[in-house]
Amino acid sequence: MTLREGLYFLSQIPGSRIGKKIVVIESDDWGSIRMPSLNVREILRQGGIQIDSNPFNKLDALELDKDYVYLIQNLDCIKQNYGKTPVITANYIMTNPQFQAIARAGFESYKYELFTDTYQNRDQDNRTNVAMNLAIDGGYIRPQYHGREHLNVPAWLSLLKKDNTQLTLAFNNEAFGIDFKVPSGRSSNLMAAFDYENEKDFQFVKTSIIDGYSKFEDVFGFKSKTIVAPCHVWDERHEKIFKELGIQFIQSSLVQLLPGQDGYKKKYRFLGRKNRWGQRYLVRNIFFEPATLPSYPWIEKTLRKAKLAFAAHKPLIISMHRINFSSGIERSNRDQNIELFMELIENLIQMYPDIEFMSSDQLGLHLLQSN
Ligand SMILES: [Zn+2]
Repeated sequence: MTLREGLYFLSQIPGSRIGKKIVVIESDDWGSIRMPSLNVREILRQGGIQIDSNPFNKLDALELDKDYVYLIQNLDCIKQNYGKTPVITANYIMTNPQFQAIARAGFESYKYELFTDTYQNRDQDNRTNVAMNLAIDGGYIRPQYHGREHLNVPAWLSLLKKDNTQLTLAFNNEAFGIDFKVPSGRSSNLMAAFDYENEKDFQFVKTSIIDGYSKFEDVFGFKSKTIVAPCHVWDERHEKIFKELGIQFIQSSLVQLLPGQDGYKKKYRFLGRKNRWGQRYLVRNIFFEPATLPSYPWIEKTLRKAKLAFAAHKPLIISMHRINFSSGIERSNRDQNIELFMELIENLIQMYPDIEFMSSDQLGLHLLQSN
């Protein structure tokens, strides 16, 4: 065992232990726009916006019907060959900004549309909604809740009103998720939708979480039992809102970021531990994000970590963002990363024939029953 592997193993010791070998694949950002097109990517690059330093700006785009179909076909191969169906817990952002309406309102108020309408408006038909429902009904995708918008609206509108050059250029091209320069003050991660600086902003966030949660039920026909905060930024006040909505489990990375006046404070989270409201944390312990670093030996490293996590009686909770399944900017991005993902899944099944694939909410319920 290398030093890094030893430290990883030790990090896996705290928290609930489970007897089974369970694999959960958590994929954030479904439903949310990112880079609208190759053409816009070029316009933003020409405008001095950093593209290549951030793989999400470079490659992440709203999923297409073809992306759902390609994913279904690949997962179905596993099902046919091994009798097990890997399920992707797709964490959905329920809405996207209506850019023109926001501009018409002089950036004073926020307007949005359901992501299913973003699909429809882009495609001019309902093909992506049909493909999404096929993936859900076939058990390949299990939707869970990621938020109403992947955007800190109060901070965004205030910067747009000040006419931040790069944000305005992105806005005019119907994009918001860019790396941009803030003139001064508190560093701002605009993607951290639940972040807040004052009570007024917190109330906006609260309304947004509650509104998005009911939209989730409208679209998918059931309530999400889990949530993952955008950019892992949240605190106890958000957890109280989650509790009131009936959310039992919080998907987390090892480190939670708490909003504060001097930037984020870090807090470590461990699998199955309860917060003061009795909600339990589901903590990601493996990052399989080949889109973010194609040169990294993802399969080899992930299999070694899997061995250590199972040895510590932990499930594998794999983080794999939508970017890895997205072909909207570069088709090869999706094809290469799904190929690697299939290789990983096949290796896992061959090494651990008794593994079970679960969604995040299933894992949560399993933890409740076994601890
Ligand atoms: Zn996200």
